[in-house]
Amino acid sequence: MPTTGESCEINGVLPPVITQVASMEVSEAIRFLSRQGFSGKLISADSYKIDYRTMDAGPLKSDSCKVCGQGIYELLNKNNFTAVQSNCGNVYTLRFNEDIFHDNFPGDVIRQNRFVKFISYKEYEMTLFKDGRMNVYGLGDVDDANILYKEIINQVNIRV
Ligand SMILES: [Zn+2]
Repeated sequence: MPTTGESCEINGVLPPVITQVASMEVSEAIRFLSRQGFSGKLISADSYKIDYRTMDAGPLKSDSCKVCGQGIYELLNKNNFTAVQSNCGNVYTLRFNEDIFHDNFPGDVIRQNRFVKFISYKEYEMTLFKDGRMNVYGLGDVDDANILYKEIINQVNIRV
């Protein structure tokens, strides 16, 4: 963990770590879904030192917590989302209604399949997902992202 609090945008990610972590996550998910051998552990991996540690996450569970203690997942059923979200790597995620995927979106579709469209619009590169999420690359800041969001809403005339 960087002590300076910088993000992966600054410090980078050691590529093999991604597949190692993904592999552990998929293994745990399979064990969880099959109800056979789910560890329930918090796993810490230091790929550089080849050091893996686990911690039993059970004691962290709180009976008074709605989510982990009572199993009430209110946010999973809510449709209110943040329209513009800043991500790592100067990428912004804009959220629209899923109808936008089938509308005539402004800009040029570079490539597409049933699930995703790669779009070039003005000086921006965009990835539009079937569920209405759109990652935009090349924006300056969150103000630019909000301006672009409103511009797209006005052009496509969609409900959000
Ligand atoms: Zn909790």
